[in-house]
Amino acid sequence: MPELPEVETVANGVNERVRGQRIESVWLSFKPQTFKTPAAEMLELLEGRRIEHVRRVGKHIVFDLEDGRRPSGGFGNHEKLQWIVHLGMTGRLLVSEPGMPVPPHTHAVLRLSSGRELRFVDARRFGRLAMHRISGEEGGFRGPGQEPLSIPMQDFVRLFRGRRLAIKLALLNQNLLHGVGNIYADESLFRAGIRPRRMAGRLRRAELERLHGSIQSVLREAIALGGSSVSDYVDADGVRGFFQLEHKVYMRTGQPCLVCGSPIRKIVMGGRSTHFCPICQG
Ligand SMILES: [Zn+2]
Repeated sequence: MPELPEVETVANGVNERVRGQRIESVWLSFKPQTFKTPAAEMLELLEGRRIEHVRRVGKHIVFDLEDGRRPSGGFGNHEKLQWIVHLGMTGRLLVSEPGMPVPPHTHAVLRLSSGRELRFVDARRFGRLAMHRISGEEGGFRGPGQEPLSIPMQDFVRLFRGRRLAIKLALLNQNLLHGVGNIYADESLFRAGIRPRRMAGRLRRAELERLHGSIQSVLREAIALGGSSVSDYVDADGVRGFFQLEHKVYMRTGQPCLVCGSPIRKIVMGGRSTHFCPICQG
């Protein structure tokens, strides 16, 4: 499942390729579970808009749209809209030449003024497409939770104060921090030297400071890695897997810790496999 770095890489790659272009026409699969906004409405809202910018918010990819149409259209010309894409487990956004065969499980094709097509492909259909209307002073889609790459230290510390749940589960709770999934939670806790079962509200300030730093460094390293291979999955046929940062604990059960040599342990927390070093995370 794509996590924050993969989503950021895709958002940046798509932004470079489609920013500024007009959506000339749209084809949608009309498969109900994919569309959080009814597909007919989405089709009507997308056609004719110009893509101002594409960026990541949490684990969502947000397209900021400008109204490229006449103000007499059905929707006020002052209304700002966003197209929200969630990749789910297997979702892909591809920027393709129109002649390229349309892969199976394609649910959306946006034909752009450049002549190229932006395609959303999703075999397992956990991905979601939606429209978001920006109303009043609201700055646009924000999703739940705080942004792990920009949350200030003070706010990060406050986020976990008094929380009576394990820090690993707190990191996975998207209403606290959004975008940190199972892999990067395990890797961040290892780097910070914190055992996953520790109660979030009991962590010392120094530990939370280390965790704040390790989450950001793990995510930034993965984003840097993704940037070098973005073409593999934004320009390609949609079957390649995502890049992976070399894991120090995740899925290394029984293998020696790269720091101290003890076997990495696996436990299950909240239904998710959790990996840690019993010595380094003492
Ligand atoms: Zn170790």
